Amino acid sequence: MAQPPNAGSFAEMQQLESILEAGASRLDACRVGEVHAAASAFPSTPPASGRTIHARPPSVFFAGIHGLERIGTHLLLDYMRMLLWRLEWDELLERQLQSVRLVFMPIVNPGGMWAGARANPNGVDLMRNAPQDAIGRVPPLAGGQRVGAWLPWYRGKLGAPMEVESAVMLQVVEQQLQGRPLSFALDCHSGYGWGDSIWFPYARTAAPMPHLPEMYALKTMFEQAHPHHGYAFEPQSRQYLLHGDLWDWAYDHTPPGNIFLPMTLELGSWLWIKKNPRQLFSRQGFFNPVKAHRTARVLRRHANLLDFLARVAYAPERWLPRGQRRQELLDRANAQWPWGPPG
Ligand SMILES: [Zn+2]
Repeated sequence: MAQPPNAGSFAEMQQLESILEAGASRLDACRVGEVHAAASAFPSTPPASGRTIHARPPSVFFAGIHGLERIGTHLLLDYMRMLLWRLEWDELLERQLQSVRLVFMPIVNPGGMWAGARANPNGVDLMRNAPQDAIGRVPPLAGGQRVGAWLPWYRGKLGAPMEVESAVMLQVVEQQLQGRPLSFALDCHSGYGWGDSIWFPYARTAAPMPHLPEMYALKTMFEQAHPHHGYAFEPQSRQYLLHGDLWDWAYDHTPPGNIFLPMTLELGSWLWIKKNPRQLFSRQGFFNPVKAHRTARVLRRHANLLDFLARVAYAPERWLPRGQRRQELLDRANAQWPWGPPG
């Protein structure tokens, strides 16, 4: 593993620290864990915006679970900067944040990002690290393997406790999200696909999630508000199945009666590579746009989605489906995705 020139820190961590410093009066920052990599300790800090007691559902944003996928982290850091600048003058936003709690954990795997690696410093792919196995065929290796950390997509040893990064992230999920009657999470990744996708559970089975009507309501509202959004909004199982997906685990461990709606934003990189094939020869290039104009375009495109998740939390009683409407949404979702093996 190459030693980065600046051992002990890296650009994204420095940016996060300067955002926390600039927003000290607006943000609550807390240290939820510590990750060690090559004698450096990195804090895992999910800063939350707003300092009031929030009765409404929270929206929590994650990125950097795969240390190579820096563009997702950049997206969240940009959005946090935007919120801080707007809070200087935007009274509407101020009022919104008095009601809706936004929480950011933009670098879930700091040791991996520092090292320029997908996995954490123990060589574990955190998005394959939960204990559950998929029901059905997963892609060879990429669906998660227990052969060894020398191969990519390593899940960790059978029966071993989850890695510290996974445990810390699930702790944030438990404290901030699962205990609430309703909550939303968005986790930013990059690398897979020609276009951008929003995925929701399950990754472990081709069966539907129990809150499919609620998720379908979100999808419908987002598409009506942003008809040119360009995302494929679908269950992850429509693409491939996965062992050990942390969002499946969190969703399945939400207390009964509570509604937790986790989504993954997957920024497709294949078009970036097609337009600039030299990216193929760079590990960073496969997961992040290399050309500055393309980076700008990617960063520009997703603020609507983050805004949307911050706004749906404000008055969920206006849109949460019940009774006949819930059944209609379920029927529409079932018609759109006949449930079977990925295809
Ligand atoms: Zn990823």
